[in-house]
Amino acid sequence: MTQHTADVVVLGAGPAGYVCAIRLAQLGKKVTVIDRAEVGGVCLNRGCIPSKALIHAGGLYEKLSHSAEIGIEVQGAKVNLPQLMKWKDSVVQKLTGGVATLLKANGCTFLAGDAQFINSKTLEVKTASGATQVAFNQCVIATGSRPTSLPGVEVDQKQILDSTGALNLQKLPKSMLCIGGGYIGLELGSFYSKVGTQVTVVEAGAQLLGGVDPELTKVVARKLEKRGVSVLMKTQVKSIKKTATSVEVVLFDGTAEKKHEFEVVLVTIGRTPNSDHLGLEKAGLKTDSKGFLTVNAQRQTSVPHLYAIGDIAGQPLLAHKGSKEGIVAAEAIAGKKTAYDVVAMPAVIFTDPEIATVGLTEAEAKAKGVEVQVGNFPYAANGRALSVAETDGFVKMIGDAKTGRLLGVHIVGAEASNLISEAALAIEMGAHVEDLALTVHPHPTLPETLMEAAEATLGHAIHIFQKKPSAAPQAQARV
Ligand SMILES: Cc1cc2nc3c(=O)[nH]c(=O)nc-3n(C[C@H](O)[C@H](O)[C@H](O)COP(=O)(O)OP(=O)(O)OC[C@H]3O[C@@H](n4cnc5c(N)ncnc54)[C@H](O)[C@@H]3O)c2cc1C
Repeated sequence: MTQHTADVVVLGAGPAGYVCAIRLAQLGKKVTVIDRAEVGGVCLNRGCIPSKALIHAGGLYEKLSHSAEIGIEVQGAKVNLPQLMKWKDSVVQKLTGGVATLLKANGCTFLAGDAQFINSKTLEVKTASGATQVAFNQCVIATGSRPTSLPGVEVDQKQILDSTGALNLQKLPKSMLCIGGGYIGLELGSFYSKVGTQVTVVEAGAQLLGGVDPELTKVVARKLEKRGVSVLMKTQVKSIKKTATSVEVVLFDGTAEKKHEFEVVLVTIGRTPNSDHLGLEKAGLKTDSKGFLTVNAQRQTSVPHLYAIGDIAGQPLLAHKGSKEGIVAAEAIAGKKTAYDVVAMPAVIFTDPEIATVGLTEAEAKAKGVEVQVGNFPYAANGRALSVAETDGFVKMIGDAKTGRLLGVHIVGAEASNLISEAALAIEMGAHVEDLALTVHPHPTLPETLMEAAEATLGHAIHIFQKKPSAAPQAQARV
């Protein structure tokens, strides 16, 4: 067995791990990165990037198909799925190649193989050329997560898919059932419905996109319906059976069971942390009941020289949360005074229209006993939204009525993903609602909706009629 030593091992080269490794190298550490698959993790290879490439293409196709009303007539637009997948793969390869080059340029050693702890200071890595023992001073565990499977249902990536399979189809299915109305199911379901698949979404709960303000999800649900997507709420999957050409699914809506047939079924019921098969117990670590590792503000686990970042360190399971943790862990290991003290963690859902949120929802603020001031500004009243034919949606702003402090911003509408960062910065800097209202925003742009939502919160938006401006609660003090 070969031996290898490193100051720091980063286990997992996803957006948490590779960012951490680069920051560690910048801070002068000798870093070894271990991954059993390609660099970039789920995000670059099987998650954020390939899904957004497909969603972009689906949006373009839908726009071309409906552009006659704005005077652009396009004949013969069609979807060439193998070519689309090829282009998507080329985007992935550019990014993963770039990350591999950056790791190398920063002096990180990359070891390809499956790793397990044999004690708290050593990993055993099964590589293509045999097993290697890697000794380290510190290890950052960034092994991420995988799709949660439905008990008794085997994903074959042909008729029964998980998100990875849905990102790699070569033939457009005529029909698809998405099990789970979370963001991954709705994003991928929306893409397939745009390019011509008859999509059905089944959700056991009472709300799509659980945790998001229901006012926002209503806009997305309406658009899904308009596009012909069937959304079956409070409905459970009772059984799934493959036949030679289809998948038979029995659904129960609380009163009756009904058999349906789909060409493919996409299972998106959540993510499971990759904490089993790591030998964590040999390193003295235990996970919580859901398989996540518990960490402190520096991302140290209960064994101080072992850190955990990204999906394995718990909610929210988002790439940018993992990358932030990666930087904090790297700086902590390098002896810098640092902490993960994020106030505003934005989240984006790339449905049509997009949803982007940061900070407290109205319900969360009220549950905390905060007296809130709330303002809404519709996209339909924004010049830019009209001139790019994207009038669905609104910006909702939540402020603290007593202090004027901005607490949350929730957007459903075009480019919500690109608008939310201004709100994240504002909350992170302790801005007041008034600060957004006072900031001059260039015209005509979608970010003007943020300024006007702030004005609406204060009762004096210009481009919507507000009955009694003075009746809106005004901040009593700037705290
Ligand atoms: C379809 C889809 C779309 C998504 N879209 C978004 C989005 O738009 N925005 C967003 O923020 N997030 C999105 N996500 C979530 C995002 O991909 C994850 O939050 C992110 O990838 C987590 O990063 P990570 O570094 O913690 O782990 P991962 O990206 O899961 O990487 C972990 C790495 O560890 C390696 N590994 C695991 N175990 C071992 C072992 N024993 N030995 C060696 N290597 C090991 C794996 O091979 C993997 O490369 C999406 C996910 C999916 C599935």
